[in-house]
Amino acid sequence: MNVSEFQADLRAWLDDNDLTPGADHSLEAHIKQFGRVCAALYDADWMRYGWPVEAGGLGGPVMLRAVVGEEVVGRGLAEPGPYSMLEVLAPTMIDYAPPELAAEMVPRLLSGRELWCQGFSEPGSGSDLASLSTRATPDGDNWIIKGQKVWTSFAQYSTRCVLLTRTAPGHDGITAFFVDMDTPGITVRPLRTMHGVDEFCEVYFDDVVVPAERMLGKPGDGWRLAMDLLPFERSTCFWQRIAYLYSRMDRLIAETTETDDAELGEAYLALHTLRCRSRATQHRLDGGTRLGPDTSIDKVLLATAEQKLFDTARGMLPGAIELNDSSWRTEFLYSRAATIYGGTSEIQRNIIARRLLDLGKE
Ligand SMILES: Cc1cc2nc3c(=O)[nH]c(=O)nc-3n(C[C@H](O)[C@H](O)[C@H](O)COP(=O)(O)OP(=O)(O)OC[C@H]3O[C@@H](n4cnc5c(N)ncnc54)[C@H](O)[C@@H]3O)c2cc1C
Repeated sequence: MNVSEFQADLRAWLDDNDLTPGADHSLEAHIKQFGRVCAALYDADWMRYGWPVEAGGLGGPVMLRAVVGEEVVGRGLAEPGPYSMLEVLAPTMIDYAPPELAAEMVPRLLSGRELWCQGFSEPGSGSDLASLSTRATPDGDNWIIKGQKVWTSFAQYSTRCVLLTRTAPGHDGITAFFVDMDTPGITVRPLRTMHGVDEFCEVYFDDVVVPAERMLGKPGDGWRLAMDLLPFERSTCFWQRIAYLYSRMDRLIAETTETDDAELGEAYLALHTLRCRSRATQHRLDGGTRLGPDTSIDKVLLATAEQKLFDTARGMLPGAIELNDSSWRTEFLYSRAATIYGGTSEIQRNIIARRLLDLGKE
């Protein structure tokens, strides 16, 4: 399928089918709107292109799904945060879940019927993910899970969780499961962030029984799964976020009478550099390349561009961030998280130094 024709047809469809969000800007409203948009796009097949037929998709280049994300988020029909979960979690399910489970579940995610979350980080195990201690113990045909996760985005709205557990010591002792969030023993406690939204949660697992067929891969495959998932979280899921950032730059220019051209130019350059890099990554994925540590470059560029843009907004809209309860304030505060989520910028720079530039350990 030709990408430009696909984009033109999608644009025409979006012009004809009004999916404009309502005036409610709560997280709950954003999540509802995200479900509404996914359902409409799935029913009209747009959300199925670029995903494998075995998982309910219609095939075609993976670039097509990037085009859908760009149009939807760039037009402000859905927020970039929830949208990114599609690109982070669906490829992992397709690669690691038993095929019949992926075939059953992935369409539920793409069609907005379900939202899923990612249970990796724990108190004390963020950057040092391999030290995680949530334990899974075999018990006949089941596994019993006990432990705690933290910073689990959208857990309170999620039906399932891609969960990392410890089944033995070391990197080879990490095992992943696809867990139903309504299983007895799971407690979700939302956490209020500094931008005033309960975006992520603490999730407690108290002797949670998970059937063995919900394991993703084999026992001990969890680290490999994480190393395959994180490149998506650090690169391809940004294409739609970049569209959102461009829309904010346009809005900033529209809202200011006196522009600081030098600052704006720098912000634009950072954004454009990111988009060029991200485009190359999308093409590499499309060409069959397995994404790896090189995506740490995309992550550093994203964090730099996002923070530069909102720093520029802070300079050009005096008081909008410090004194007003505007969306600029919320977005500025959220942009501070860009150097943390998906792996901190310090960790990405370590990866670039050690694994891409071979500069040694310290
Ligand atoms: C908005 C948001 C959403 C998130 N969503 C999820 C989610 O859905 N699921 C999930 O599992 N996690 C999620 N996270 C968690 C995220 O992955 C972690 O916060 C991140 O990996 C950092 O871990 P930490 O918070 O434990 O910080 P730490 O690892 O404790 O790091 C603290 C500081 O020390 C620095 N540091 C640590 N080790 C080194 C080192 N070796 N060299 C140099 N500096 C170092 C870090 O860069 C950082 O500045 C989310 C985080 C945010 C902010």
